[in-house]
Amino acid sequence: MPKEEVILPSPEEFFLSKGLYEKFSLGDEDDIDVSKQILDLEFFHGAIRTYCTDCKTESTFRTD
Ligand SMILES: [Zn+2]
Repeated sequence: MPKEEVILPSPEEFFLSKGLYEKFSLGDEDDIDVSKQILDLEFFHGAIRTYCTDCKTESTFRTD
């Protein structure tokens, strides 16, 4: 059976556009490429620039 190619959303897409309980197919749990993508999301280190729904301004949200 051919390997299912799993492409998870980018951190920005994941945090801003995906639903809280949205499901993603992770394919084979032993797939190192999938593991890396999960870790990249879990340990995302960077900044995301987006719109604040409270004060209606653009802000940069950082992980540090
Ligand atoms: Zn705000």
